[in-house]
Amino acid sequence: MSSNKIDFSIPSLGEAKISSPIMMSTTHDDGQADYVTDDDHILYSIDTDIDEKGHPVPRHEETLEVAGPRAKIYFNPAHVHAAICTCGGICPGLNNVIRAVVRCFWYRYGVRRISGVQYGYQGLLENSPWPLIPLDPDVVDDIQEKGGTILGSARGGGKQVEEIVDSLERMNINILVTVGGDGTLRGAFDISEEVKKRGLKISVIGIPKTIDNDLSFIQSSFGVDTAVQMAVPVVRCAHIEAKNSIHGIGLVKVMGRESGFIAANTSLAQSDVNFCLIPENPFDLDGPEGLLARLKQRILERSHAVVLISEGAGQDLVPSTGETDASGNVKYQDIGIFLKDRINAYFKQEGIDTNVKYIDPSYIIRSAPADSFDSIYCARLGAHAVHAAMSGKTQALIAQVNNRFVHLPIKVAVSTRNHVDLEGSLWRDVLENTRQPFMMKNKD
Ligand code: ATP
Ligand code: MG
Repeated sequence: MSSNKIDFSIPSLGEAKISSPIMMSTTHDDGQADYVTDDDHILYSIDTDIDEKGHPVPRHEETLEVAGPRAKIYFNPAHVHAAICTCGGICPGLNNVIRAVVRCFWYRYGVRRISGVQYGYQGLLENSPWPLIPLDPDVVDDIQEKGGTILGSARGGGKQVEEIVDSLERMNINILVTVGGDGTLRGAFDISEEVKKRGLKISVIGIPKTIDNDLSFIQSSFGVDTAVQMAVPVVRCAHIEAKNSIHGIGLVKVMGRESGFIAANTSLAQSDVNFCLIPENPFDLDGPEGLLARLKQRILERSHAVVLISEGAGQDLVPSTGETDASGNVKYQDIGIFLKDRINAYFKQEGIDTNVKYIDPSYIIRSAPADSFDSIYCARLGAHAVHAAMSGKTQALIAQVNNRFVHLPIKVAVSTRNHVDLEGSLWRDVLENTRQPFMMKNKD
């Protein structure tokens, strides 16, 4: 058993005393059979150790609270004013989440006051020019067909916590569902701390959105599957371009600021990638072990190559922009353009004619509607978020862990970042597919 136990307990606004309007069971007259109770937990990790008798035992004793509808709920549906906001960059599946949240509140609980907050936390600021949008099943009908979010999304504003809670109070909002990445979730946590400080009964529930898949503890984030699906034909095009020209090099940049999951998974889905460059694996450009020498070797042997790079890879090679966005995130240089120029200069110097084609599909990918896998995932995340909020849970996000939907404390979720483990099986399989060296770093 690990000694540093993680506290996975979920805060609650108070005792849930109201009978849920949801009838769960078709086989039991009392309808009670399939409710989830707060005692329902699953193991956080399915890893095992061997005890002294040689039997497998759980390596970690921590458990996670199972998500889903409770028999008793905290909020009276007639008194609920629920709000939903989408923050940060757009991602496939946002509209699916909004739709699922609205429909679950409306049809399952009979909540009739559901509002959409426009442009993320900015829509909750005192002087926001954007009114709340009343949401009902008609408004969200068919929105899953479109990419993006009908509410708009924005950065910034999330740190003006007191102002946001003033707005929640003024608008009598008692449930806030926030859909966003690490920044949004940190904001949600701060908002709920201020709510607690003021003694208010407002449930703040997060639905994690990160196309980079960089949030820890959750199995995978919605939008990632669609992103890979959209990146695959781009890599295929880059490969065709490369193969059809003399010494052709196809260079594709995908999203992934600090975690290279999209690039790694795309390399596995479309095995034409010869070099997969991710933020977790720093590389040199020059020198015998560096990328350029390796690329030359590949071009001389095979006449064409495909390089797939995450936006955050190789940032140590480029001068910092010194700029941050409205949320305080460091703005990155375009590593793709930098790399294209360096590859061209290197091959010119080596006296080898090349043809580099650089493709950056980032905005095409993130604005796509969700694929079937993500649509299913978003529908389920949305419904579970509503069940969590109605039962009075707060400071929690909905996560899928070990194929079960659970409540995860926001504080824990943002405490570490999810990275591609260079010693793990995913990266090992990428290396087997690309046949690139494990390291492209020169010895000092
Ligand atoms: P992504 O990076 O995937 O696009 P994100 O949620 O991380 O999503 P950000 O732009 O970083 O996107 O943050 C979204 C919102 O959260 C913004 O309104 C921002 O003000 C707020 N926010 C960001 N970082 C913090 C923080 N450390 N504490 C409180 N609020 C934050
Ligand atoms: Mg972020």
